[in-house]
Amino acid sequence: MEKQIIVVASGNKHKIEEIQTIMDRFGYRVVSRDEAGVPDFEIKEDGKTFEENSFKKANEIMKLCGQITIADDSGLEVDALGGAPGVYSARFAGEEADDAANNKKLTALLEGVPEEKRSARFVSVITLVFPNGKVISARGECPGHIITEARGKNGFGYDPHFVPDGFIKTFAELTLSEKNKISHRALALADLERKFNHVE
Ligand code: IMP
Repeated sequence: MEKQIIVVASGNKHKIEEIQTIMDRFGYRVVSRDEAGVPDFEIKEDGKTFEENSFKKANEIMKLCGQITIADDSGLEVDALGGAPGVYSARFAGEEADDAANNKKLTALLEGVPEEKRSARFVSVITLVFPNGKVISARGECPGHIITEARGKNGFGYDPHFVPDGFIKTFAELTLSEKNKISHRALALADLERKFNHVE
């Protein structure tokens, strides 16, 4: 029997693989937005929460392809900055900002803030939208703190400045497989798996 397909909104190969691993267990075949024939148009991430943004991404693509669609949205919340950069994580230092510019802004804003007040968390929200209107939303959070000096070469984004709780290494000093065991995305996928089990 043909497997039911799930379209992934993200073009990130790594994220697609992670989602495929989970969805395999439920007998679904994960395909990229490209494979599903959905053109690469820009979806404005103008929501105030990760939930709103990931729902919007999944829903817009679901409306175009008529298939179950999955999307994620993630970012960093720093307590001393009132939860910023949050949903603005990718463009914290401006629309065209790269990781270096975002990290520079982050560490500048935290100058003089003592270590015990540098608590932060990475958040990942994964939303699954079905053509019949059903929605499953899953969330994962990885707590830690922000350091001023960048350390490590792995990962991306804010990884060189983020030390997860219970570790002395930054996310960028951990190997990808170490990070994938504790990351916000891994926890969101585990939450999704639990919720999927309940719906099926
Ligand atoms: P997106 O959800 O893939 O669009 O990610 C939003 C932004 O959050 C990224 O551009 C990064 O700045 C930040 N971010 C999300 N997840 C991570 C992570 O695992 N490490 C470092 N930065 C991250």
